[in-house]
Amino acid sequence: GVAYLNGEFVPIAEAKISVLDWGFLHSDATYDVVHVWKRRVFRLDAHLDRFWRSAEKLHLTMPVERGKLAEILAECVVRSGLEDAYVEMILTRGISPTFSRDPRDAENQLICFSIPFVWVLPPEKHGTGLSVAVSEVQRIPPESVDPTVKNYHWLDFVTGLYDAYDRGAGSVILQDRSGNLAEGPGFNVFVVKDGTIATPDRGVLEGITRRSAIQIAAKMNIPMEERPVSSTELFAADEAFATSTAGGIIPITQANGAPVGSGHPGPITCTLAKAYWDKHSDPDWS
Ligand code: PLP
Repeated sequence: GVAYLNGEFVPIAEAKISVLDWGFLHSDATYDVVHVWKRRVFRLDAHLDRFWRSAEKLHLTMPVERGKLAEILAECVVRSGLEDAYVEMILTRGISPTFSRDPRDAENQLICFSIPFVWVLPPEKHGTGLSVAVSEVQRIPPESVDPTVKNYHWLDFVTGLYDAYDRGAGSVILQDRSGNLAEGPGFNVFVVKDGTIATPDRGVLEGITRRSAIQIAAKMNIPMEERPVSSTELFAADEAFATSTAGGIIPITQANGAPVGSGHPGPITCTLAKAYWDKHSDPDWS
């Protein structure tokens, strides 16, 4: 992999930040991830829009123009020699030269890197699907932080993952305060019942893949509801799936040790997943 840091491209192993960086000390940073398939970035504009929106909401200043960032990302991919890549862009508060506690003193820093593609669930396991536990751990981005800002607050996910592993599951879905489904570590959640799809619409990141799934379903005239979804609905669903830049549309086939629907990837999930991958060669979606 290759990283861009302090205005230079370096091998990923040499990309280091200071322990005094607010991103490290206070999770005071935002980030976004794009996936690159056959050297083409998928849905770059949607990711850049979200990255800029997140930065603005956090009062972070982007040190480069949008076109320049696109060039840096492309250069990271070329220099890393990867055909398929997971490319992350980070904007961190940076370091305050006076060690003050005033975030306005810090110099915001852009960091990008390109590494081999990372999957929520490796493709050879898509036939089996993802086994999840619905955890009692709540997804509570701190009250004052907008959950639609892509953030590094992952302590709840990490606690939830240990809970899920203890229960023999492969990943976790956290709930919100009202006991409705929120999201998983790096993915949004969908359930399908009687041909209608539903996905949580509150307290979750506005996933780009979530939006892609919603758009594809609309094109195919599959009914889709964005609304609170309870864990009971997941347990009673005909099918369920997760969406993430890290792997697209991923079947969820087990929840809390019991099969979801047939226990195999469902027909609507498979139709959407195929259409999603087909979009990779559709120039309108680049
Ligand atoms: N929810 C969280 C908390 C995430 O971190 C992510 C992505 O990493 C997602 C959902 C999925 O978003 P996207 O489809 O944009 O990758």
